Amino acid sequence: MRKKKSSESALHEVEGIKQPASVSDNSIKNIKLKRSVQPSEAVYIEKILAGDISYLSRAITLIESTNLKHQEKATAIIEHCLPFANKSVRIGITGGPGAGKSTFIEVFAKQFTSKGKKVAVLAIDPSSSINKGSILGDKTRMEELVKDPNAYIRPSPSGESLGGVAQKTRETIILCEAAGFNVILIETVGVGQSEIAVHSMVDFFLLLKLAGAGDELQGIKRGIIEMADAIVINKADQDNIKRSNLAKAEFSRALHLYPPKESSWQPKVTTCSAFYNEGIDAVYEIIKDYLSLIMSNGYFEKRRNEQNKYWLLETVNQQLKNNFYNKPTVKEALKKYLEDIQKLKTTPFKAAEELLKLAQKQ
Ligand code: GDP
Repeated sequence: MRKKKSSESALHEVEGIKQPASVSDNSIKNIKLKRSVQPSEAVYIEKILAGDISYLSRAITLIESTNLKHQEKATAIIEHCLPFANKSVRIGITGGPGAGKSTFIEVFAKQFTSKGKKVAVLAIDPSSSINKGSILGDKTRMEELVKDPNAYIRPSPSGESLGGVAQKTRETIILCEAAGFNVILIETVGVGQSEIAVHSMVDFFLLLKLAGAGDELQGIKRGIIEMADAIVINKADQDNIKRSNLAKAEFSRALHLYPPKESSWQPKVTTCSAFYNEGIDAVYEIIKDYLSLIMSNGYFEKRRNEQNKYWLLETVNQQLKNNFYNKPTVKEALKKYLEDIQKLKTTPFKAAEELLKLAQKQ
């Protein structure tokens, strides 16, 4: 197997190639015209439920659009797809840059697709909320997986905030499930807030780690370990095997010190080599065991219900904030109040009260 570059993560975007001279401007116009004829909601729904990937992609683009009409259409499509969603396993995968996420996902997804399951790979990229996730043409994908007819890879949506990106991903999950994907993998890089967002939408949370220099717990936030259902130490190959086994022992010891999880699941630690495709089947087995436990003790349903409640409140919060900050009068007044607090003309609390009053007036 060829060595993978870190640029092959689902989180990575590269600049597109220039339009070849053989493609005339006219043909581009024609393509755009055809694409601009929007199918009706009913067509979208019918095609998505039939597993049509091209319509699924277009519907996700509607979700990601900032155009109000597109968003309304997306909401209607999601609503109709909802009764057909939910029948999947949602797995979150996190790890620092270079931990081997994309290499791992490529071989891990095969564990499912080789058994006839359909896998969707989504991503939450916290940086897309900073640089607005500019779409620079063609994206570099996981090369092997992209050829698998049972896999669908979608990069991180862009958005103004992590909250927005996360909401769009959640809506995307519903459409993917309605389109027949029964395994949803959601990848994120190890940045605290995005990990929490991913955790809030998955059934199983997998932390991908590398063996360190014997101080494994250094620099890992307690919260992240607490969220993990499995810690998988990757790159356990060649002269790294011994260190990986030591890391495994240290993580296992540490995990036993944490209070038991509500799911009654005892998180597992294992080693693997994504590059040499070793130990991946063990990760698959861990998830299988976990699922059979939480299906039988009722935790699966309980957690999904809790997540739905959380997302209802989260969406309301998000919408309230958007409505507030998008009001022109608030925008203007906010600027003034920010200056005023700097000049100590008023207090932050008084200014906040005034702003909220102003927003209620309209
Ligand atoms: P990501 O940034 O977490 O998506 O990491 P990548 O999957 O892009 O991997 C980063 C680098 O580590 C690449 O050069 C991979 O070929 C390499 N890599 C990934 N998994 C393994 C592994 O199991 N063993 C070894 N030796 N290298 C690996």
